[in-house]
Amino acid sequence: MVAAVGSYLDAKSRGGTWALRIDDLDPPRIAPGSVDSIFRCLEKFQMTWDGEVVFQSARTDAYQAALDGLRSRDLAYACACSRKEIGDAGLAGPDGPVYPGTCRNGLPPGRDARAWRVRTGNAQIEFTDILQGPVRQDLARETGDFVLFRADRIFAYHLACAVDDHAQGITHVVRGADLLASTPRQIYLQRLLGLPTPAYLHLPIALNAAGEKLSKQTLARPVDPGRAATTLAGVLRFLKHPPPDAVCADGVSALWRWAAENWARGRLPVNAAAPAAYRDSGAPS
Ligand SMILES: [Zn+2]
Repeated sequence: MVAAVGSYLDAKSRGGTWALRIDDLDPPRIAPGSVDSIFRCLEKFQMTWDGEVVFQSARTDAYQAALDGLRSRDLAYACACSRKEIGDAGLAGPDGPVYPGTCRNGLPPGRDARAWRVRTGNAQIEFTDILQGPVRQDLARETGDFVLFRADRIFAYHLACAVDDHAQGITHVVRGADLLASTPRQIYLQRLLGLPTPAYLHLPIALNAAGEKLSKQTLARPVDPGRAATTLAGVLRFLKHPPPDAVCADGVSALWRWAAENWARGRLPVNAAAPAAYRDSGAPS
C-alpha cells in the first residue's frame, strides 16, 4: 500500500499517469482470488489507473523475443547448475548466492540446460535514485551472471520488468526500497536490449518490530479495504505527509485531494531498511 500510494501521488501530483501491472509470472505463488482482491482494494481506495492493466502472464511472447535476441548475440547462455550447487560454491552476495560462472563456457559434459543466464562481464551499474541517492553495483561480484529464464520454465522477474517497463512507456518507477538491489540488474538488461532507463524512486518499506518487511511472508494482516480512510491516513503519515485531523475525518476523497496538493518528494523519509551497501555518500556523478 505504501508503494501504491507513493507511486500514485508522485504520478498524479505531476500530471502524470499511473499504470497498473499485475506481476503474475509465478503461478504457484499467486493465491486464488488475490488479483481480484487487488482490484477491489484499489476501488475502495479510489485509486484509478490509466490505460489497460498489463498481466505479465499474458506477455511471455515478448519475454521470449527478448531472450532470443540476447541468445542470438551470445549474451545469454544455458546453465545446468542446481540451486544447491550454486550455494555450495559459497559466493555470498547481498541478494543471495553469486553465480560462480560454472556454465559460462558451455555446459559441463553430460549435463542438461535448466536455466538461461545473462553474461554480466565486468559491468558496473551506477544510477542516482531520486530518494536514496547514488547507487552502484558491481554485477560480477554482487550477483554474477543472473537468471533470465528459470529452471521451472518461468521468465525471471528482472527480464519481464525491463521488457514491460518499456512496453508500458514507464518514465518513472516508484516502488519499495526492498527492490533497490534489483534495479542495477534491470538497468543492465535495458542497456543490452537497447531500451531507455526510467527514473527510479525507491520508497521506504513498512517494517514490523523485528525489522522485517510487512508482507504475507512475515504474516502481516492484509490491507483492510473497509478501513480505507484510516489506512490511507496511516500510509501518508508513514511517508511524512501527515494529513490534518479535519481532512482525515472527511474520508478518502478529501485525503487524496489534500495529498495531491501537498505531495513533496523532499518530505519523504529515506528508508532505514535499504541496505547501506547500496547507498553511496558521494555526490551524484
Ligand atoms: Zn551453471
